Amino acid sequence: MIFLGHKHWDTSISYLKGVGPQRAEVLQKELGIFTIGDLISHYPFRYVDKSKFYKVNEILPNMPMIQLVGKIGFPQTTGQGRGKRLTCNFIDDTGTIELVWFKGVKYIEKVIKPGNQYVIFGKPTIYNTKVNIVHPELELLSEHEQKKGKLSPVYASTEKLKNFRLDSKGIQKLTYQCLKEGHQFILEILPTEIRERYRFINRRNAIIAAHFPSDEKVLSKALARLKFEELLLIQLSILQLKKERENKFKGFIMDQVGESFNRFFHEILTFDLTGAQKRVVKEIRKDLVSGIQMNRLLQGDVGSGKTVVALMTMLLAIDNGFQSCIMAPTEILAIQHYNGIEELTRDLPVKVELLTGSTKTAKRKEIHAGIEDGTIHLLIGTHALIEDKVKFKNLGMAIIDEQHRFGVEQRSKLWRKNNPPPHILVMTATPIPRTLAMTLYGDLEVSVIDELPAGRKPIETKHMFDSQRLRVFGFMKEQIKLGRQVYVVYPLIEESEKMDYKDLMDGYESITRAFPMPEYNISIVHGKMKPADKEFEMNRFAKGETQIMVATTVIEVGVNVPNASVMVIESAERFGLSQLHQLRGRVGRGAEQSYCILMSGYKLSDDGKTRMETMVRTNDGFDIAETDLKLRGPGDITGTQQSGAVELKIADLVHDQRILTEARDCAKQILSADPTLKNDEHYGLSLAIRATQGKKWLWSRIS
Ligand code: ADP
Ligand code: MG
Repeated sequence: MIFLGHKHWDTSISYLKGVGPQRAEVLQKELGIFTIGDLISHYPFRYVDKSKFYKVNEILPNMPMIQLVGKIGFPQTTGQGRGKRLTCNFIDDTGTIELVWFKGVKYIEKVIKPGNQYVIFGKPTIYNTKVNIVHPELELLSEHEQKKGKLSPVYASTEKLKNFRLDSKGIQKLTYQCLKEGHQFILEILPTEIRERYRFINRRNAIIAAHFPSDEKVLSKALARLKFEELLLIQLSILQLKKERENKFKGFIMDQVGESFNRFFHEILTFDLTGAQKRVVKEIRKDLVSGIQMNRLLQGDVGSGKTVVALMTMLLAIDNGFQSCIMAPTEILAIQHYNGIEELTRDLPVKVELLTGSTKTAKRKEIHAGIEDGTIHLLIGTHALIEDKVKFKNLGMAIIDEQHRFGVEQRSKLWRKNNPPPHILVMTATPIPRTLAMTLYGDLEVSVIDELPAGRKPIETKHMFDSQRLRVFGFMKEQIKLGRQVYVVYPLIEESEKMDYKDLMDGYESITRAFPMPEYNISIVHGKMKPADKEFEMNRFAKGETQIMVATTVIEVGVNVPNASVMVIESAERFGLSQLHQLRGRVGRGAEQSYCILMSGYKLSDDGKTRMETMVRTNDGFDIAETDLKLRGPGDITGTQQSGAVELKIADLVHDQRILTEARDCAKQILSADPTLKNDEHYGLSLAIRATQGKKWLWSRIS
């Protein structure tokens, strides 16, 4: 929702002429358009130059929407009921194509005037050398000529909306009416100084031009201003909340470096920290003496060694008399952290416990008590750790591993585990492009581990087709002979769980046939197994008792078996890039050369192909994240779905990175001069922020 300076714009869309209750409902459901303001900020996603006409013989495969002029033939209907369709020929002086309707057949039949000259607009498809256009926009040539030469807006719509004649053109009509009646209510909100600095056109003209541009030049001016405005409001809002939080929570001072930290660092740690790890530890230590509660995001690619940084941070807190905890998204991962940390701290005066959903009642009670009386210093767990029954004596440091797997609600619960809140470190192995981090995690400080421990060999990635499976099995056998272990991962995506489960079991069977006992032992782990069974199988694999681990993506996160050097991903085309990257990160953790094999069928979508190529091309998580962002747009990037964030109306985090950086700098500047936006020249901004907050803006704040 965009603030337009008058409450007129909060008026429900159903009051608009031509929008009855039915159309209002479908606009709400399909596009989230509730108010007139929402409609106005449903900007076109594209513009077409309608002064350009194509000829039938110029049509090529994969053309975007094009405009043609010609004569329409007599319509014919075929089929019955839902299968009914209407076709008619469309003829110009170079050839004939077919127009097709599946929906609104009756309406089209009624209005169409065979033999007349029409302007049509739509996306051509070529099938068996025959060209057709499905559901084209139609306009009598005589009516068309009046508005020649302008860029025409194209609005996002849906099939459902089209049934209510709210296709792009229908939405355009509504918007036009809206702006015609209400443009005088669009008020300026940017301070004069900023408008002059960036030479922005005024707000009213910008909004009108974004919908109905007279030419490219005006359009680009309008977009530049509106994108900046949108991103500025977001940044102001994020930074204000951040400031508020920092003022409210002083943060425990942890200035002692004591026995646990020192002995761990000097006696127990067997390797040198990488430069990046050292830098991050320093950044964290600085936070802990700042008198401000820490909220830090630690980004580091898989295998970059975040756990040891987390452990050192927790030991620091413990040295200063506080309790620490680390929460992981899966039981397997929590157990693994527990095993590792328990071993590393065995000789230290630190009591460590593990709390998960399957901790037995007696043990659970004992842990609850130990947490409450402070005898337990370091608690490792899953969601079980944030249950109300878990009461810390003095939690000073809370760490969230693989934070993108958690929802906002779970993170905020951890916050409230102590009063005042503990320092918070959230970690993620899914690198987030910088721009996305600035909006999604804009209120966090960010640390990056951008260096892998020395001696790691880059993983070799190959894309193979299903028909080459025997070769892949052969390769697996070679590697197993060398003493290595292999993962074979199947997709398990909830909607089609039954089928996926069957794929997994079929795959498991074919592997047991190709790798018979007693020469080979195979583990299997999937989501439907009991936690204890899962753990048993994981342990067998971790100890090297089994050579092959057949699994679903439950192993995706964090699992660490350094001797595993081959990752085979079945139906790899069904995984997203970040998931593929995470899975690949399960290997390459030891000294051996590791391999990742992506299996797929021959038929791949363009995006699927790009994903395979990207994985083969690079091991760099940030590079992969950027490609992912470009392929899918920010709305689908891991970690953003659940936060409901990044619902940008006009700016775009892929292409508008420069504008975002400018907006962030500008927001900082504004707030440093006027932290509460109380000055007259900031009145508009302040109102606009308030209008947007409390809507669905749920930036993934951990507060
Ligand atoms: P992630 O960042 O993916 O959570 P981990 O913390 O699990 O990575 O570390 C991966 C492996 O690398 C572990 O076996 C860990 O002990 C090891 N490791 C971490 N830091 C270093 C380092 N500086 N030098 C050598 N090995 C390291
Ligand atoms: Mg990890």
